[in-house]
Amino acid sequence: MKIIRYGDPALREKSKPVNKITGETRQLVRDLLETLYAAPGVGLAAIQVGVPLRICVIDLRSKDLRQPIVLINPKIVAQQGRQEDEEGCLSLPGLSCPVKRHESVRVEATNEKGFPVVIEGTGLLSRVLQHEIDHLDGKLFLDYLSAADKKLLEQEVRRKKKQGDW
Ligand code: ZN
Repeated sequence: MKIIRYGDPALREKSKPVNKITGETRQLVRDLLETLYAAPGVGLAAIQVGVPLRICVIDLRSKDLRQPIVLINPKIVAQQGRQEDEEGCLSLPGLSCPVKRHESVRVEATNEKGFPVVIEGTGLLSRVLQHEIDHLDGKLFLDYLSAADKKLLEQEVRRKKKQGDW
């Protein structure tokens, strides 16, 4: 599937909850994973391929985690601490910025089989969880930047578009 880029108004949409998990939902999850691996990236939300449903997939390719992580209707139910690290997004390829996030979060969701899942993430996993869940509410990492930094990033986007890099 094609990943939509920053500037597309769909990225600002609030995605709708999934009421029923069907074969179609599972196909969408497979397509999202295929798109994530092809990119490649560590996380992808359905809205990034233009589907306004509360679904995201994460794969940090870590041996310590059961992967991939499929989250349907995810909710952050607890959060703790602070961290700051460089962050990017498949919808803003080639761009990244330091972003402050919670050091750890607990997320409740449903997986593609309809079972409830609880994911506890610290460090990078916590960051990716927060980033992907933000997408479901139409929020992007650059919304956390100062006005000056956001302006610089947007200039960079315009420059890339003009050069045909995007
Ligand atoms: Zn993103």
